[in-house]
Amino acid sequence: MRFQHGNYNVDYAMSGIKLNHVSEISPQLLGANTLQFLSNLGGPTVIHIPGKDKSRCRVIVTLLHGNEPSGLKAIHSLLCDNFVPQVNTKIIIASVVASLTEPVFTHRMLPGKRDLNRCFNHDEKDLQHMLANAICEEIKACQPEGIVDIHNTSGSGPSFSVSIDSSRQHQAIASYFTHRFIFTDIRLGSIMEKDFGCPIVTIEAGGSQDTEADVTAINGIRAYLSADMLFAQAQELALITHPRRLELCKESSLHYGDHLNPAVDITLRQDIEGFNFGNVVQNTPLGWIKDNDLHHFHLDEPTQRVDDFFSIVDGMLVTKKHLVLFMITTRVDIAKSDCLLYFAEKP
Ligand SMILES: [Zn+2]
Repeated sequence: MRFQHGNYNVDYAMSGIKLNHVSEISPQLLGANTLQFLSNLGGPTVIHIPGKDKSRCRVIVTLLHGNEPSGLKAIHSLLCDNFVPQVNTKIIIASVVASLTEPVFTHRMLPGKRDLNRCFNHDEKDLQHMLANAICEEIKACQPEGIVDIHNTSGSGPSFSVSIDSSRQHQAIASYFTHRFIFTDIRLGSIMEKDFGCPIVTIEAGGSQDTEADVTAINGIRAYLSADMLFAQAQELALITHPRRLELCKESSLHYGDHLNPAVDITLRQDIEGFNFGNVVQNTPLGWIKDNDLHHFHLDEPTQRVDDFFSIVDGMLVTKKHLVLFMITTRVDIAKSDCLLYFAEKP
């Protein structure tokens, strides 16, 4: 099948998905800016960069979500600089088509399609699962010593890392990028849940609109690819263990604003992103609930209760405990399809 999207196209074989492979980096491929570069890639792509030490390999995955460009911008910039990594490097740029769909860099996934970073847990026959499988095969084939998957948060906020394992090696990889390390027991079908025989860490470089996130991504990638001893920790980490997701019920309506919007069930504060990794003490107001009822919310873990952590006071949703909040979004579509925020009790 051939899908046309403007001035680029991608071949999808019926039996699976073909990744483009690039090993010659030409000025024509790089283009004048990140968008031209992405457009020239034309579809999901693996870039092979030879390292000083050719006996080892590291992997970078980025753009699993089309609206999270910091990793891509960093890769483009390093390729323009003729950067030479310490070891052989494979860079996998995934959701090229979603990213190029107008308006560019706004679609997490193609409209109406599945979230690619929720398709790494089982075999289904849709294109997203086939692409996820093709990415996994590509990674396994090179037996890397480490993998990072670089994202942005949709809301503004500082960088952090996430892993399903808190080993010294996982923490060392994270430490090239950020000092915040989240050890999670949540399983969503994301790439970091796969066993590749080496540590894999998700990096959230910061908000997709934040210049600081671009700096975090490029400095982190440079450090990660320059280190000879990958598992030598670059900085001390602050550990957050087993956060939960605050999710919205399907039928509940949501809005972000500065005051109660009586047309919807829940109005969250327009400035709620400001709480990302901030000091959220007990009784911090997060928004307004029209019918004074917490039934609009649930947690990802059914054995835990929303009202252990949040309550309603004078029509406002407030925190019941001292919490750390992160991954807060103010995009209604992402809040509804993914979650409102993650939280953990303040250690
Ligand atoms: Zn993402």
